[in-house]
Amino acid sequence: MGRILITGGTVITADEEGRVFAPGDVAVDGEVIVYVGPPLAREGAVEDAGAAGPASGTLPAGWRPERIIAAQGRLVLPGLINAHTHAAMTLLRGYAEDLPLMVWLQEKIFPAEARLTEEDIYWGTLLAQLEMIRSGTTAFADMYFGMAMVARAVEESGLRASLARGLIGISSEGERALEEAVSLVRSWHGAAGGRIRCLLGPHAPYTCPPAYLKKVMAEASKLGVGLHIHLAETREECEESRKSTGKSQIENLEELGFFELPVLAAHCVHLEPGDREILARRGVAVAHNPTSNLKLGNGIAPVAELLEAGVTVALGTDGAASNNDLDLFEELRLAALLQKGRTGDPAALPAAQAVSLATRMGAQALGLAGVVGELAPGRQADLILVRADSPRLTPVHDPLAAVVYAAHGDDVELTMVAGRVLYEGGRFLTLDEERIRREVERRAARLRGLEGPAR
Ligand SMILES: [Zn+2]
Repeated sequence: MGRILITGGTVITADEEGRVFAPGDVAVDGEVIVYVGPPLAREGAVEDAGAAGPASGTLPAGWRPERIIAAQGRLVLPGLINAHTHAAMTLLRGYAEDLPLMVWLQEKIFPAEARLTEEDIYWGTLLAQLEMIRSGTTAFADMYFGMAMVARAVEESGLRASLARGLIGISSEGERALEEAVSLVRSWHGAAGGRIRCLLGPHAPYTCPPAYLKKVMAEASKLGVGLHIHLAETREECEESRKSTGKSQIENLEELGFFELPVLAAHCVHLEPGDREILARRGVAVAHNPTSNLKLGNGIAPVAELLEAGVTVALGTDGAASNNDLDLFEELRLAALLQKGRTGDPAALPAAQAVSLATRMGAQALGLAGVVGELAPGRQADLILVRADSPRLTPVHDPLAAVVYAAHGDDVELTMVAGRVLYEGGRFLTLDEERIRREVERRAARLRGLEGPAR
């Protein structure tokens, strides 16, 4: 950390006006961004900072960078925000393939998860974070168990995260899990210099009956935190809700008062008429997980219509067991293409809007609006540099199109969170890549062994 000037890159601010500075400069002082705009006059430092063009931010007289990062041929943009994942599921990457959700979950994933130790979860989360840092993700919303280990792993990595202990009300462990969730919030909400925030994570309406949800809601309002839940992911669960209650999942939750709390809802693939209006009116943020929804055969969420209705839509990867990687650039491209394909309208989810899903709206979904998600003075310095000098990205006629339709996670050259560089030019600065990969390999082999001979 310190005073860093990133100069001469193509700066995609992802702000409300969608401003791009090509070339532009970004100045970082400690944890925060202090300037974004046209290149600063550098000779004799930057006394005239902010004087020209639509720049924002002014630097104190005589402000001099301690480090200058030359960003020619680079795209500079806010770090991407993964609004729905189960990080430790990296341990189960490729473990259960080509199965429908309920079989995948109940016959493969749940039994495997029952064999995970807290140490497994710690190492699995570290691996997920290596992958996220490497591919330009700077914040993620996680739902899993053993979350104190996840929090420890986040503290070490330097990433930003919103953590929720997943809660299954129909399990005999439901009450104990809720106690654990409450204690996670008490110990970790606001920890690691504010990088860690906590939510309560009721898994889904079909695993959490109304009476249990009410208890969760009461705890959340007492603690002053929001909720992270899976909603309307499969057609079957939605049909079941209609059959047994006469209402959609979303109507039922509205009636329960669930949406009076801040809610981050993963999926929302199968919506009924009226659901969109409830989500918009209640300010529910939807985490769209295009790869996972396709891979588990669940369909395509009506993202274009949700945005049209005024719903905040963020992007997620879901866990590595249903993706199978955590590269948000892939989700960006896929999200944009799917909306064009399903609506027949090539203007649906244009590049600039797609970028806002992974940045500004992602920040809103994680309760971090005004903190991260755009490059602007006063925001936390969570940003990435993407190399745009490879054959795949040459030339850059349109920087936003380059990010959405051409860039891959591997093109990320530098990842910074709160002014601290976590990854640069192939090197991780907070995590030991070799050791983490070794540990996960060893633990994955043990998990396979417990199941019996390899299939
Ligand atoms: Zn999920």
